[in-house]
Amino acid sequence: MTVARNLSQEGATAPASAAEQRVRELRALIADYAHAYYVRDEPAVSDAHYDALFRELERLESEHPELASAASPTQRVGAPAAAGFAAVRHAVPMLSLANAFSEEDLAAFDRRVREALQAAALPEAELSYSAELKYDGLAVTLRYEDGRLVRGSTRGDGTTGEDVTGNLRTIKAVPLQLRAMAPAVLEVRGEVLMYRGDFVRLNERQGNAGEKLFVNPRNAAAGSLRQLDPAITAQRALRFFAYGTGEVRGAELPRSHGALLDWLQEAGFPVGRERALVSGPAQMMEFFEKVAALRPQLDYEIDGVVYKVDRRDWHEAIGFVARAPRYAIAHKFAAEEAVTELLGIEVQVGRTGVLTPVARLRPVFVGGTTVSNATLHNEDEVLRKDLRVGDSVVVRRAGDVIPEVVRALPRPAGAKGGGTAPPAQFSMPAQCPACGSPVVREEGEAAWRCVSGLFCPAQRKQALLHFAQRRAMDIEGLGERLVEVLVDTEMVKTAADLYRLEADQLAGLERMGAKSAANVVAAIAGSRRTTLGRLLFALGIRHVGEEVALVLAREYRDLDALASEDWEQVQARKQEVLRENARRRNRGEELVPIPLEGVGPEIIASVARFFAEPHNREVVADLRAAGVVCEEQEQPAASTLSGRTFVVTGTLAGMSRNEAHDRLRALGATVSGSVSKKTDFLVAGEEAGSKLVKARELGVTVLDENEFMNMIAGD
Ligand code: NAD
Repeated sequence: MTVARNLSQEGATAPASAAEQRVRELRALIADYAHAYYVRDEPAVSDAHYDALFRELERLESEHPELASAASPTQRVGAPAAAGFAAVRHAVPMLSLANAFSEEDLAAFDRRVREALQAAALPEAELSYSAELKYDGLAVTLRYEDGRLVRGSTRGDGTTGEDVTGNLRTIKAVPLQLRAMAPAVLEVRGEVLMYRGDFVRLNERQGNAGEKLFVNPRNAAAGSLRQLDPAITAQRALRFFAYGTGEVRGAELPRSHGALLDWLQEAGFPVGRERALVSGPAQMMEFFEKVAALRPQLDYEIDGVVYKVDRRDWHEAIGFVARAPRYAIAHKFAAEEAVTELLGIEVQVGRTGVLTPVARLRPVFVGGTTVSNATLHNEDEVLRKDLRVGDSVVVRRAGDVIPEVVRALPRPAGAKGGGTAPPAQFSMPAQCPACGSPVVREEGEAAWRCVSGLFCPAQRKQALLHFAQRRAMDIEGLGERLVEVLVDTEMVKTAADLYRLEADQLAGLERMGAKSAANVVAAIAGSRRTTLGRLLFALGIRHVGEEVALVLAREYRDLDALASEDWEQVQARKQEVLRENARRRNRGEELVPIPLEGVGPEIIASVARFFAEPHNREVVADLRAAGVVCEEQEQPAASTLSGRTFVVTGTLAGMSRNEAHDRLRALGATVSGSVSKKTDFLVAGEEAGSKLVKARELGVTVLDENEFMNMIAGD
């Protein structure tokens, strides 16, 4: 979970506002879904659902600028590169695209572009857009040096992607050598995808071999390209379409986007045939509708169309927002719908004990795949939609991925024969379906939870997966299947049991060779030396995401100090400081530092509850007995940057923004996502935009990359 460290919020004595809570919740949800989608290639919710959450977060952040955070998903592209692949830093960041869903959205986009052109004194009257398909695959960069393909990478988090050169070389549509040109450097950007027919055949083969099925062609393409063994990728029929460029040296590119696509085609790349030059929202709609009609006949999936300002030489002047260029927009198709029967509602249990109802559906073909289940989110959602077993329901699938039940169709009067009782209303089971413990629903919460915590096998599995994840204890090889077996066979009850596992115990398990058993045991052993921040995050305390874990780790040197803290006193002290600061602010005096800044009362209450629980204390003691030790590095060295607030913007040549944030935090500085009067320094990389302007307006000290590097090196 990512928690906004918005410190200015702390000035108010009131607990977190509803907006702040929702923002926090949305960030956590989106981060989880993005991880499932981009890193595991296993989307957890439909795109429409994800997009709706994302838009809600964008809206809240724009209505409440004080809640902005650099860690927000709205400020980031995709997800970090997965372990296992070498990292590739993109010379020019690979961005995402802003979305439009309606003609109004397009009109707003067009207006923004025109305003930017006016501001840059460019001839707005000559504005036109190059329209093309939005391929539903995954973005890659192909790097050619002196005409030869030298490297291929995925987008990753936009700054750093995964090196998948060997895999990309197996795609026949990817030229290994450019045709009739050999510029010093040419990076070509485009989409790797799988044709629908190839996807169906692949899934047939997977099914016959008892292997996992892919949800849709996009997911199959991503899973196939992100294979550690290129021999597997080579067996998958992947395609490629080019739609742009990255770094270019030694070549004169055409001035317009349309001409660039022709140029790329001449260089040997497949480019889409459906293209048009349009100006204004009405013509955009016309192209969109034409493509929508054509969509079923295409061999591959598209999830919309893209409009880009045709004049490439204007792009820079129009500029960028955090995660997307301002000169382009994706116009997405509305979700597709179908009707089927609701066969049953099952209840699943997640890591924190949350019970999630899941619809079992009569299999139905919608938007290109067969759908047989869908999450129903929570009890209220089921009741609000009044879904009952046996109902005919509308299932929607947005472009792709796991679908949603939109609504039930009206039940025929006197349904199921005269006299038969109508289908019963859904209600949550009174007991946890995994362990039989009671379930509770706290006031103000949508979710029911199983109360038994780590005693519940379903929660235990999820908790172990959380514990092992990369940002927590980072135990490679401890995946879902293994955790399932370890918990079901009771070989592992708590995280500490992991450290007692031996290779021969594991080697006896299904699908586990001696070598992988040894690897897992070594990975577990290697995780013993960790940091307090990671360990705290790994424990899965409610509301304690990575950021909060880090703040706590800095304040308390070890787990014992945390476990024995008097949290009521902490709350009281915090309130006192906030009151004192309010007085000082009125008098124009310097403020005193706030204890545990960024950690609100709700989080503190949750930490207190966690450590008050005897079995949690046992788990912690047991982890220590199993040899888990926290190294010191969490504590930032006393440095001149302690307590200073930094904002990093633009692209740095020497490190990603995330790396810069990590370095700053390690030195005790606070990193913020937005420039305000409280900002001490703005670090401005290449293509810094509005934040730089604002910093100058407010008189904030601006550092270029060199000055920044000197500052952190000297500290
Ligand atoms: P995006 O897919 O909406 O748009 C950006 C991408 O479009 C580019 O990176 C590129 O890969 C692609 N693209 C295709 N054709 C293009 C063209 N002609 N020109 C330029 N780019 C083109 O954005 P995103 O950041 O990749 O992902 C966000 C989307 O992914 C969301 O809107 C959501 O639908 C989906 N998503 C879903 C889940 C989930 O859990 N279901 C999770 C994360 C993301």
